[in-house]
Amino acid sequence: MAWLPRTVTGKFTLLLSVFLILQTVQLTVAVIHLSRVSHDSGLINDAGRQRMRTLLLEHMTAQVLQPNADPVRYRHRLVEEIDRYEEVLRRLRERAQRVGANRDLLVMTADARSVWENELKPVLVGIDPTRRAQVRTAVTRYSQLADAQLARLNRIVGLLEQDVRDDTRRLSLYHVILLSSILLMCLIAVLVARRNIVAPLQNLVDATRAIAAGAYDRRVHVFAEDELGVLADSYNHMAKAVADKTKRLSTLNQIAVDITATLGVDDLLDRILRHGIALTATKAVAITLYDEKSSAFGGWVARGLSDTCLEGGFGDPGGLIEQAFTTGGYALSTQHPKMERGLGRLAELEGIQVYGCFPLTSRGHRLGVLCFYCDSRDTLLPEEIGLLSTFTHLAAGAIDNARLHAATVDLAETDSLTGLSNRRLFEERLDLEIQRAKHFSRSFALVILDIDYFKQTNDTYGHPAGDVVLKEVGARLSRQLRAIDLAARYGGEEFALILPQTETAVALRTADRLRHAIAEAPFQLPDGSEINMTASVGVACFPHCAEHAESMVACADQALYLAKRAGRDCCFCGRGLTGAGSAPQPCCTSNTNQPPSS
Ligand code: GH3
Ligand code: MG
Ligand code: MG
Repeated sequence: MAWLPRTVTGKFTLLLSVFLILQTVQLTVAVIHLSRVSHDSGLINDAGRQRMRTLLLEHMTAQVLQPNADPVRYRHRLVEEIDRYEEVLRRLRERAQRVGANRDLLVMTADARSVWENELKPVLVGIDPTRRAQVRTAVTRYSQLADAQLARLNRIVGLLEQDVRDDTRRLSLYHVILLSSILLMCLIAVLVARRNIVAPLQNLVDATRAIAAGAYDRRVHVFAEDELGVLADSYNHMAKAVADKTKRLSTLNQIAVDITATLGVDDLLDRILRHGIALTATKAVAITLYDEKSSAFGGWVARGLSDTCLEGGFGDPGGLIEQAFTTGGYALSTQHPKMERGLGRLAELEGIQVYGCFPLTSRGHRLGVLCFYCDSRDTLLPEEIGLLSTFTHLAAGAIDNARLHAATVDLAETDSLTGLSNRRLFEERLDLEIQRAKHFSRSFALVILDIDYFKQTNDTYGHPAGDVVLKEVGARLSRQLRAIDLAARYGGEEFALILPQTETAVALRTADRLRHAIAEAPFQLPDGSEINMTASVGVACFPHCAEHAESMVACADQALYLAKRAGRDCCFCGRGLTGAGSAPQPCCTSNTNQPPSS
């Protein structure tokens, strides 16, 4: 129905217009009918009076025969009545001709007029009231003609009445047709309203309820291109936007749960890269973290970029990365004037068409930059930028937490003065080493080293100088050890070392090397002076000396005690303590037995 207006307003305007036209037609028909009926009634009346007038004229003429009749008055009245007679006949005739359709009425009115003109009127006009005999003859003649005229007039009345009845019947028919049309219009209006308003509105209500209950994929059928169709279309767009947003929020939520589930920085960065690629289907994601100590970006952690690209210097600090980092806002390759002509050779090799750098900022600290590289399109949409910004924010929070956790763990396991492991970590590692050595049937050594006459150093040079010595001792010990060894500050000026998979002979050699490392070179003090220090060392070997943590420590401690007693600056092994009654075996290679001197 292409002729139907597209809009609901248009449809109803059309229906209303048709309704008004029908109403107007109905009123017009009714008015025309009323005027015709009133006209017909007037004519019926005229015809009725005309019958009376026919008789009246006969009576008037007969009255002339009376002795006191006034011939002048008679003449005068006769002329009046004849004029009226003719006037009515003319009206009847004209009406009959105007209506036209009724042939009988035409014939009858023509006959009545002709009889009047040719027969009745000449009789009346020819009367001479003074001649009684002639009047009598005229009256007789008139009476004869009048009967036929009366019958004609009766017939005219009947035909006019029939006319009125026909008109009324026709009018009733018109009314029925018009009323039916109006009813039909109303029915169509109801159907149109049901189909074009009620049904789409109900659909919208159902869809709104569904979306409120969480069914974000529910859509409304677009019935037509009218206002409600536009509303339904807008609703579908809105529902899609809500669904997309909810999906994005849910994805971000899952990502947040996943990336906060790990505190290991490397694992976390890997998860961020993985989620970053999946989030907006980008080709590659890369992270560079900023090292505040060196005031420079560290290396790249990337996914999706080739080694050639990374080794070729792609994404080197500068440009967008530095812009994002320094401004604290995202930077897009599409907005960079220098990149209007292309992103460079390496980007082209990778097929990258657009990329964006987002600053990793948490608690006001700038941690680095997260970059997203796309190869499937040349622009990032605003909603994608919003999503990536939120994702970067989540990632920054998680990286900050992981770093904080690492720092806290470090603090909990590290001695703040020397940077070596603290006693807690040492004890944990000792237990672990005993289990491992037992499990793999291997040996390991425990070394305890105590600085000789340290109190004297403190007393002479002050505690800060003593601290410097402790720090330097820690550094010298660390330099002597393998990566698998552990050096810890056991307490005060005592150090404990775990040497995994180390036999007794090697342990003794290592212990002596440690002792040498302290004694061989003087220590620089803050005031510029130098001081020579020595240390005594006690060694315990698993499983020869002891098989438990406490007894291993006691054994090494005992050996240390012996070293002190032997004059200091020497190593003792606690091996001998394990055998019943056997004496500890010293292994010192030098023994100055002298207090340290500057
Ligand atoms: P010995 O040769 O018998 O080991 O004599 P010593 O003086 O080294 O031993 P002693 O146990 O009498 O003294 C240890 C000193 O270490 C006492 C304490 O003031 C000092 N000390 C412990 N912890 C620290 C520290 O963190 N910093 C400084 N500067 N001194 C410390
Ligand atoms: Mg001590
Ligand atoms: Mg000491």
